[in-house]
Amino acid sequence: MSDSKYDLLIIGAGVSGSALLYLATKYTDINNIGVIEKYAAPARVNSLSSNNSQTLHCGDIETNYTLEKALKVQRAARMLRNYAVAQPDAHHIIFKYPKMVLGVGEAECQLLRERFEIFSPHYPELMLLDKKAIARIEANVAMNGDSFREDEIVALGSTDEYTAVNFEALSRSFVRQAQIEAAKMSNKTVDIHYNQYVDHINVDGDEFIVETKGVCYRTRSLVACAGGHSLKLAHDMGFGHNYSVLPIAGSYYFTPHVLNGKVYTVQNDALPFAAIHGDPDVLVPGETRFGPTALVLPILERYNFKTLPDFFQVFRFDRRVAKVLWDLLRVKDIRNYMFKNMLFEIPLIRKLLFLKDVRKIIPSLKLGDLKFASKVGGIRPQLIDKDNGKLLMGEAKIETGIGGIFNMTPSPGGTSCLENAEIDLRTIVQHLGADIDEAALQKDLLLDTKKRESDDFSGTVITGS
Ligand SMILES: Cc1cc2nc3c(=O)[nH]c(=O)nc-3n(C[C@H](O)[C@H](O)[C@H](O)COP(=O)(O)OP(=O)(O)OC[C@H]3O[C@@H](n4cnc5c(N)ncnc54)[C@H](O)[C@@H]3O)c2cc1C
Repeated sequence: MSDSKYDLLIIGAGVSGSALLYLATKYTDINNIGVIEKYAAPARVNSLSSNNSQTLHCGDIETNYTLEKALKVQRAARMLRNYAVAQPDAHHIIFKYPKMVLGVGEAECQLLRERFEIFSPHYPELMLLDKKAIARIEANVAMNGDSFREDEIVALGSTDEYTAVNFEALSRSFVRQAQIEAAKMSNKTVDIHYNQYVDHINVDGDEFIVETKGVCYRTRSLVACAGGHSLKLAHDMGFGHNYSVLPIAGSYYFTPHVLNGKVYTVQNDALPFAAIHGDPDVLVPGETRFGPTALVLPILERYNFKTLPDFFQVFRFDRRVAKVLWDLLRVKDIRNYMFKNMLFEIPLIRKLLFLKDVRKIIPSLKLGDLKFASKVGGIRPQLIDKDNGKLLMGEAKIETGIGGIFNMTPSPGGTSCLENAEIDLRTIVQHLGADIDEAALQKDLLLDTKKRESDDFSGTVITGS
């Protein structure tokens, strides 16, 4: 048995856990910090570069976000950007590409025009783009062969912003920087325990006892950033039984290079994670990636069928879960969409079906251009709130009130990693009676440097003529 004892123990070294490690090490006087990760390196699950869409969500082109939600995400994205651009290896972490959300047909175009009026005062870089202006940025979207596509299109977008993140590289950077910060201070310890799987957590007085195979850690506070497994650990301790999890897997397809940047499509309100997009993969030059699809799978980790029993442990099927699922299936759009996504996984017919969706973005794309992206795409652990009978769309957390927090992080959890970590840090600091260096946190991560540069700039309507 180890006698390791921590003030703060973090479970999971994906982008959420590593962001918290960095903030706690650099901006607080918490001295003994540990991380337990079941794999041999950070970010091997949903934060792995190939398992998510790599998008820095700022809220301006996500048509399922209200202005309130968009501004919250904008703050989170700003924190991430401020951190990333200050790193010596920023060019491996954060990337600039054009981005847009494309409206196709009269109703979607009208929606985007109205949205532009509301959102552009808060997003100075946002432009309303007509067909010719779209063609200048993304020729293959506006054109069908040699002529313009015939249907009505409009887009909201920008061309000079950070829009993509390698969340795996970001996680590694957080861990490395935390270790560098700790090395500067004689009273600070940061221990990263790889290859250790947390089996069980107990409460002993005012401490948590965290058990892995053969090792037992004591800690005064604890934050689980273990994706769907956070809920399993919380249930195990008797917390969060009002939640069940619905794992939604996302798959992708590659095509030859047809897009210069990120092109999203208008979301269906009934299906907030349904609309596909196309974009460059930051690690696969010369190709374009389309997706993700959305398939319900009974596992907590993609391509890891050993997590099947874990799923059943947290699914806790009962009348209230059945009602939420039944309510979802009663909506025709959702029912058809779920069925279509099952077909998306079947070789031979999946490409034909997916082509129809992709042609909304690239009308001239051919069947032979599409290639299923094997072993790409993770699982979004969407929570079912049994008390309120609904499926939750964003991140969720269970606060125990005794110094333990459990995070479940579907999209946009990569973008929100530092903001989520900040929220947890405030709870933990209060529990431990520790302090945050607010001035440094504010200066390094929270200042809106872009806003200062462009205070006089208001939204622009761009026409190609
Ligand atoms: C298809 C898809 C597309 C997405 N696209 C985007 C996007 O474009 N932009 C965006 O912002 N977000 C996106 N997301 C969401 C984003 O990927 C996640 O929110 C983010 O990666 C979650 O990070 P995490 O650290 O919480 O979880 P993870 O990265 O999954 O890390 C959890 C860690 O916990 C460890 N762990 C689990 N159980 C244990 C245990 N018992 N003991 C020890 N360690 C354990 C795991 O090994 C893992 O390292 C997407 C997600 C998916 C699935």
